[in-house]
Amino acid sequence: MNAVNAGGWKPTMGETGESAVPQTASGDYGLMLEEALIFELGAKDKCGVDFEAVDRAPASGLSKFLRKSAPDLPGLTEPEAVRHYTRLSRQNYAIDLGPFPLGSCTMKHNPRLNETVARLPGFADVHPMQPQTTVQGALEVIEQLADWLIALTGMASVAMSPKAGAHGELCGLLCIRAALDARGETRDVVLVPESAHGTNPATAAFAGFKVQSIPATPDGRVDVAALKEKLGPNVAGVMITNPNTCGLFESELKTIADAVHAAGGYVYCDGANFNAIVGKVRPGDLGVDAMHINLHKTFSTPHGGGGPGAGPVVLSAALAPFAPLPFVTRGADGGIHLVEEENRGEGHSQAFGRMVAFHGQMGMFTRALTYILSHGADGLRQVAEDAVLNANYVLRTCEDVLPAPFAKSGPCMHEALFSEAGLAEGFSTLDIAKGLIDEGFHPMTVYFPLVVKGAMLIEPTETESKAGLDRFIASLRSLAERAKAGDQSLHSAPHFAPRRRLDETQAARKPVLVWQG
Ligand SMILES: *Cc1c(COP(=O)(O)O)cnc(C)c1O
Repeated sequence: MNAVNAGGWKPTMGETGESAVPQTASGDYGLMLEEALIFELGAKDKCGVDFEAVDRAPASGLSKFLRKSAPDLPGLTEPEAVRHYTRLSRQNYAIDLGPFPLGSCTMKHNPRLNETVARLPGFADVHPMQPQTTVQGALEVIEQLADWLIALTGMASVAMSPKAGAHGELCGLLCIRAALDARGETRDVVLVPESAHGTNPATAAFAGFKVQSIPATPDGRVDVAALKEKLGPNVAGVMITNPNTCGLFESELKTIADAVHAAGGYVYCDGANFNAIVGKVRPGDLGVDAMHINLHKTFSTPHGGGGPGAGPVVLSAALAPFAPLPFVTRGADGGIHLVEEENRGEGHSQAFGRMVAFHGQMGMFTRALTYILSHGADGLRQVAEDAVLNANYVLRTCEDVLPAPFAKSGPCMHEALFSEAGLAEGFSTLDIAKGLIDEGFHPMTVYFPLVVKGAMLIEPTETESKAGLDRFIASLRSLAERAKAGDQSLHSAPHFAPRRRLDETQAARKPVLVWQG
């Protein structure tokens, strides 16, 4: 075994980890290459480029900060550096390699047309501090995307600048706080259902509210009676995810919104799952006051290591005046203006401040608008329909081997939810998830939502074909059957990944984050 691969990967079979596979001289197996840390590969005295020798740096006011010794960085030649990162990239699973069934994450194909448009120099090379007259096209992208988001959601306005879903939640709650301040009220409680994504209670707490949990009904939806009981003069609002994280449509949302409004509160909707209803349902019609849209989920801009997020927040007429700066308006001269100061522009007179330094994620705006325009309104509706169809296909083809706790109450929306109940004694969701890695698939979301014990949440999205889904389903069914039959080898899966089963508790409690040479 070579130095690089010391202690590294070796394909093994069976519970004992013993292998029928012969040892290779290199320590690598086939084209599955082991890779050392860059600090182990490089050397301080190696350099990939030739620099002119510098005797003495020119004197400047910064001279006192000059390094006395070389930085402790690994030097590599260009081919070594290229190979290192290319080898690492091959160990990464990506949506461009296969299905990424993470429930709630909407990992869908990113059309390459988006990339072509985002790379046009007029979009890619603009600077946020350029004079506005020179970036009218870029500002028009923001304006057109804003118009689409408002039309698709049936809301009054949109704050474009938040940079992810959780950032959008913060923006929405700060709008609610500003609206309450304007009313001279200090309501300090936000109600959040048990099944909510962790960012919801975290955001509410971060924004200074007290979080109270609302239970779910046995069919996986918000318990409306329990929610109504909690409403009162101290409740600033509710945060409800629709469709929710059990993959179900909250059919009582309008009733909930009416009750919350009657009690003087506001309705925040977590719109991360908008992919299931885009073009079908307008949240504005359901009484929503604020909702973030994850452009990186519904509108296909890359995420999960592939690109930054973007989380514009659509707002009702009640909250629109408090939206943060900046915003785009069209002047009487027909030009588009990015309004950066408070007290300007009708409808936004009481902006609560800013969320970001500039205007938001320009590259993601360009990709999302490209996606929207290339689909059109009818195409977007079909996206939602196909996403729901695919999820129901997974649900109905697997529910005989994995219990689906809420499947009796009807079809699901964009994601299928299973539980570990019924697996053999000692087998759990983790065994199925790790087994999927050996099968060549990224695992589904596990142990979320918390309302289902050993939850497995699968969101195929509309971009998987039936043939692709059938392959995934065959693997999932096989794993479920092995776990029901008590196949012990599943406990040590994955067997074929560069690393075997990790001690996740240890990794979380005692993370080793610094390389020691
Ligand atoms: C993804 C997600 C979020 C958070 O969005 P980010 O863009 O990751 O910050 C919030 N709620 C739900 C239901 C989500 O799926």
